[in-house]
Amino acid sequence: MGPSEHAVFLQRDYGCSSAAKVLEIARDLFNGRIAVVSSFGAESAILLHLVSRVDATIPVLFIDTGRHFPETLDYRERLSAHLGLQDVRSVGPTAVEEQRLDPDLRRAIWDADGCCAFRKVAPLECALRDFSAWISGRKRFQTTGRADLPVFEADGDHVKINPLASMSAVEIVDYVEMHNLPPHPLVARGYPSIGCAPCTTTVRKGENARAGRWRGLVKTECGIHRPARSLVRD
Ligand code: SF4
Repeated sequence: MGPSEHAVFLQRDYGCSSAAKVLEIARDLFNGRIAVVSSFGAESAILLHLVSRVDATIPVLFIDTGRHFPETLDYRERLSAHLGLQDVRSVGPTAVEEQRLDPDLRRAIWDADGCCAFRKVAPLECALRDFSAWISGRKRFQTTGRADLPVFEADGDHVKINPLASMSAVEIVDYVEMHNLPPHPLVARGYPSIGCAPCTTTVRKGENARAGRWRGLVKTECGIHRPARSLVRD
């Protein structure tokens, strides 16, 4: 059975299950062949907490773009230790690629899609070759583009699993409080959604939480979640 057919059956049978149940099913079905992809951003603690309870040895892939806020790198270390995650891996562009494709670190300004392609999309594509399925923390309420997000979907050669798809903003707040999860330090400084430093601003009251991501551009996603992904490196 290919990823598309598999995702359809999983969505039919488990698409309405709780996030914890979805993760248990995913662990059992893809034992040793599944990874979590986490940005260690503003809402990452919830998914990682759930994963840590189901199986703290599931690999967690962090895309280290080289352009993150230092606070994010520090948070990755502190949250991983707090949750007891056993296998957090950093993936990202090589130093040679960075020098060749973005020598003055200005590519995010004039070619954000190209920057994301070599800093995020290509490294993740390589890292996922070792796996059959991966888990993301996306939610339907976040953007109109995610409004129809299924819990199970096909992503090329992989099954992609979104255990938090149906979670609301209120439920997120409640979950964090209930489990006393440590917040990303930039949230208190006005960043409700956190990506790379050059492409993330604070958000004004009343704005969508992701309004500070690629502000001023039509771009709303980095590319790792597009249905058809490109491996363009230059
Ligand atoms: S989010 Fe910005 S800095 Fe990060 S990879 Fe994409 S364009 Fe580059």
